[in-house]
Amino acid sequence: MTGCDGRMLIDGQLVEAAERRRYVKFSPATGQPLGDVADAGPADVRAAVGAARRAFDETDWSTNHAFRQRCLRQLQDALREEADHFRDVQIAEAGVTVGTSAGLVKNVTDGMSFMIDMAASYPYARSHGRSTGAQPVYERVVHKRPHGVAGLITAWNAPYLVNMWKLTPAIAAGNTAVLKASPLAPYTSTELGRVIVQKTDIPRGVVNILTSGDRAEIGEALTGDARVDMFSFTGSTKTGTRVMQRAAEGVRKVELELSGKSANILLDDADLDAALPFSGTMACMLSGQGCALPTRLLVHESLYGEVVDRLTDHFSAVRVGDPFDALTDVGPVISDEQRNRILALIADGIEGGARLLVGGGIAQVDDHLKGGSWIEPTLFADVAPDAVIAQREIFGPVLSVIKFSSDAEAVRIANGTEFGLAAYIQTRDPARAARLAMRLRAGAVGVNGAVPFTHPDVPFGGIRSSGLGRKNGVEGFEEYLQSMVLVTPA
Ligand code: NAD
Repeated sequence: MTGCDGRMLIDGQLVEAAERRRYVKFSPATGQPLGDVADAGPADVRAAVGAARRAFDETDWSTNHAFRQRCLRQLQDALREEADHFRDVQIAEAGVTVGTSAGLVKNVTDGMSFMIDMAASYPYARSHGRSTGAQPVYERVVHKRPHGVAGLITAWNAPYLVNMWKLTPAIAAGNTAVLKASPLAPYTSTELGRVIVQKTDIPRGVVNILTSGDRAEIGEALTGDARVDMFSFTGSTKTGTRVMQRAAEGVRKVELELSGKSANILLDDADLDAALPFSGTMACMLSGQGCALPTRLLVHESLYGEVVDRLTDHFSAVRVGDPFDALTDVGPVISDEQRNRILALIADGIEGGARLLVGGGIAQVDDHLKGGSWIEPTLFADVAPDAVIAQREIFGPVLSVIKFSSDAEAVRIANGTEFGLAAYIQTRDPARAARLAMRLRAGAVGVNGAVPFTHPDVPFGGIRSSGLGRKNGVEGFEEYLQSMVLVTPA
């Protein structure tokens, strides 16, 4: 791809794979090759982990908080300088629409400030004073220390956000890192590696970045390497479970950011003029390829007919097309494989008795985009809460509307999947929203159009099959630290 040479970062050098292999990355919008990228194998994983291990064990990276802060500021400045480039890379490789891509790059880069401040201001040592009661009497200090080498494994959707929300806290807290990018979004991470080498003093070995065409091979090599102390994973529940199983060998820590099927509850007192544009737009954001998007719309029976009619208009007006075009609402999905998976789930929805109101097929696009992976924004009504399309994560622009008749029923339906990432409530009554939110099994709840996963200073993450641990906030920083108590006679 223009301006991206697709080399990896290992031990401070931009490198080809040890076996000099490359793989081709295709554009989701056109189906044409974007370029080729280093295709790592297990030998590259060994080299990257070895470099990260040395940087952690033999330098003062983990203890020199001020130096880390300075390096991260350099990185933030460099990423700001190159914001337009990263916006375009994310559009080209992941199909994120231009406005969304620019917003993500800006928010995530600005949001680094929270972790950058934490790098130096966090209280790494806290005195607990003299022990009382039990004899003998001790002075106790609790130290928070980084785990060591962090294995960071990431998904392809919104790759700038997904990668930076891992790398920033991992190294801010003093770990060294091996970041394994998704095969479907390699360039954001190889470009990150280039910026680190060219524009920061981050020492060699502190950050290592690997790309490969095979989905599982180098991830397996990484989780199989006993020198890695912890894993932070973003991806599907299935792969996350596999990572957790592998991390059990050696009893290593995992932090997991997984799949979702978030409910959006439209109560009988909702302001529809605000709630409906929000609900329709969010379901199609990132072409529906976002873990915490509201993909199940639960509507009170008193509003049901009006909501379905107005959403039909909304979905019919969505513009699908070139993600580089500022007038486009919805870009492509990531691959033909993903498109076919979505089409199969839509067929399942129809067979299962849901009412297809808009879409359901391959979107018509301009000639130059015909080779891409396109799906029509799709709206289903009368979806049964236990239907496959209401239970499974579709990861496409597909919204399922479900009717309910009481708050208790809404809560039961919202909580009735294996997931628990985000939830949304639309109501004119803030006290009712607060009461309902406390009954929802979700890691984050947004009320009246609030998006609950964008702020770097508050924690975000899932419960149940949606994950373990948190990103962002103090909690997200502390995922990358562990406690050691130092005890001395008083
Ligand atoms: P995926 O699980 O297929 O892949 C995720 C990463 O794991 C990729 O880098 C992949 O190469 C790697 N991988 C695959 N097999 C592996 C193995 N055996 N060992 C180690 N690594 C392996 O997911 P995806 O299709 O890339 O991403 C989509 C999923 O990510 C969706 O389910 C979405 O909900 C989830 N996601 C979650 C969040 C969150 O914050 N909860 C954010 C973004 C995406």
